[in-house]
Amino acid sequence: MTFDDLRRPPNVSGTPSVVQSLRAQGGRAVPFSVEFNPPRDAAAEARLWRAVREFERMHPAFVSMTYGAGGSTRDRTVRVTGQLAQETILLPVAHLTAVGHSVAELRSLVGAYADSGIKNILVLRGDPPGDPLGEWEKHPQGVAYAEELVRIVRDLGDFHVGVASFPQGHHRSPSLEHDTEFLAAKLRAGAEYSITQMFFDVEHYLRLRDRLAAFDPVEAEKPIIPELMPVTSLRTVARAEELCGRPLPGHVLERLHRAAGDGSEENRAAVREVGIEIATEMGQRLIDEGAPCLHFITLNFAKATSEVLTNLGYGVTAAPLSA
Ligand SMILES: Cc1cc2nc3c(=O)[nH]c(=O)nc-3n(C[C@H](O)[C@H](O)[C@H](O)COP(=O)(O)OP(=O)(O)OC[C@H]3O[C@@H](n4cnc5c(N)ncnc54)[C@H](O)[C@@H]3O)c2cc1C
Repeated sequence: MTFDDLRRPPNVSGTPSVVQSLRAQGGRAVPFSVEFNPPRDAAAEARLWRAVREFERMHPAFVSMTYGAGGSTRDRTVRVTGQLAQETILLPVAHLTAVGHSVAELRSLVGAYADSGIKNILVLRGDPPGDPLGEWEKHPQGVAYAEELVRIVRDLGDFHVGVASFPQGHHRSPSLEHDTEFLAAKLRAGAEYSITQMFFDVEHYLRLRDRLAAFDPVEAEKPIIPELMPVTSLRTVARAEELCGRPLPGHVLERLHRAAGDGSEENRAAVREVGIEIATEMGQRLIDEGAPCLHFITLNFAKATSEVLTNLGYGVTAAPLSA
């Protein structure tokens, strides 16, 4: 067995893995992928499908569907993610969070995904419902960390697992060293790649890559997929800060606020233009730095991400890419 064989994900028949899909996009310098959110009602579901059909024409390497609040949204999430597998040409990745679930429930959710043709799972611990910064409580029959869930999902069959990584460290990590160690542990447990938390300073991504390479050069060979979010309004800034758990860098905020102007009404067109410009600059730098893929948070809208991709030279009606 060679060093390369050790790094290669298991070869499962049928559905490709995220890593296989990244490799298959050979004609394109750097693949891209997008994140969707589960729709809350029928109108939101219709909007999601418009975005899905737009992105289908652009051939993302994969699309991911987040996993959140309980009840009917949860059922809808499983159903819609299954439809992505069955009714589109896209490769769906289902997010799976441990929060509020026993191990038996988590196993049954993975089974439901498998039944609808999903083999790629992004394994996460999740945040406490209501207050993402609140105290995290393990379900009495659940798991404490994503690492355990990676092992559970891998033990259930031929699943391809990804995990989260944090360019500035996870807000609960005692130090960047601990954060790197825990990321390496998730990768060693069988995750094939990580997707980062969104960031607005490419240096943070590069430092994460360097930290992992210094700590565990073998695991550092696995793709670290950077996550970007084009800002389209000051409201999106607030959303980005909520998702990151930290404020955006001062130089980014300054550009956006300057565009917003100091009138009583935010100049939304100017904020949007600057937001797209920032995401384009970041995308180009990441491409130049050898990022394996650009993963976009879309909030279920295709337009802003498509504009960034067009600026970066991606074709909107590109011919299907051969594997
Ligand atoms: C790309 C991406 C997608 C996401 N999608 C979703 C989603 O769909 N739904 C959702 O609810 N949330 C989502 N999140 C948010 C995520 O669930 C939270 O950030 C969560 O707080 C951390 O999840 P994790 O999987 O990194 O947890 P873990 O890896 O379990 O880490 C949680 C904390 O515990 C620490 N830790 C890990 N292992 C150990 C150990 N052995 N001993 C001590 N401490 C340890 C870590 O450093 C960290 O501080 C996403 C995040 C990212 C980056």
